[in-house]
Amino acid sequence: MLKQSNRAAWLKGGDACCNLQPQMLAHPYRLVLLGAPGVGKGTQAELLSKKLGACQLSTGDIFRAAKSSSDCDRTPAMTRALDCMKRGELVSDDMVLALVEERARCFRCGGGFLLDGFPRTVKQAEALEKLLTALATPLDAVLSYDLPLEQIVARLSGRRTCMNCKSVYHIETRPPHIAGACDHCGGDLVQREDDRPESVHVRMAAYAESTAPLTDFYRQRNLLVPITADGMPEEIFKRTLKALKIKRAASSAPVPA
Ligand code: AMP
Repeated sequence: MLKQSNRAAWLKGGDACCNLQPQMLAHPYRLVLLGAPGVGKGTQAELLSKKLGACQLSTGDIFRAAKSSSDCDRTPAMTRALDCMKRGELVSDDMVLALVEERARCFRCGGGFLLDGFPRTVKQAEALEKLLTALATPLDAVLSYDLPLEQIVARLSGRRTCMNCKSVYHIETRPPHIAGACDHCGGDLVQREDDRPESVHVRMAAYAESTAPLTDFYRQRNLLVPITADGMPEEIFKRTLKALKIKRAASSAPVPA
């Protein structure tokens, strides 16, 4: 298993550097993970990151990192973005794209990348395509996780996140060894504000309207890899690796072991 970077370049932007220089992999994975909130993308991204050595780049994590910084360090645009997030609404494309473009060097990383929660609209997907074409780092695949709505709501209500290292748990399907404490760093596990019922409703509506059309966008580009997100995280992970193997076998790059 490969060591994980602290993702400082992604989370903080600017001149921040990651604690590890990711090795130049011969064939780094460059993936997008798609799926409704609560479908388990974050957990799969974490497992994939350990297996493939590529960093999990989540736009939601950029906002959560900004939320834990002091009020005076936040720009007015970031304060507005955090208000949108609290209500479960999508942050404006312009704001998200500005943050992503500032972090474009993460797309050239020798370890590859796993995009989680970005793109979320067709406008964002078009901008990403342009950026990756300019950097000559095209996507290998877009993993699209599917699950019925009632199961998604059950997952969201039981989800808990570490305040410190952001690891994700579920009180029933992926409980920590000690209730309320993170297995990795001992940090407190909390329910995200936007996992509360009133915000979940808004997030699902935003997903159906803005993000679901992305499956067509990537299907047309022959990048879409549909994955059933039913079952325990480890089962879904096995399914993911199998689907990736099949996708890579269709290209000339080597498949994961
Ligand atoms: P996530 O952790 O990916 O569920 O993101 C949490 C929240 O951050 C979302 O509900 C949005 O308010 C905001 N957000 C994250 N990524 C994006 C994005 N690509 N476009 C718009 N809003 C986003």
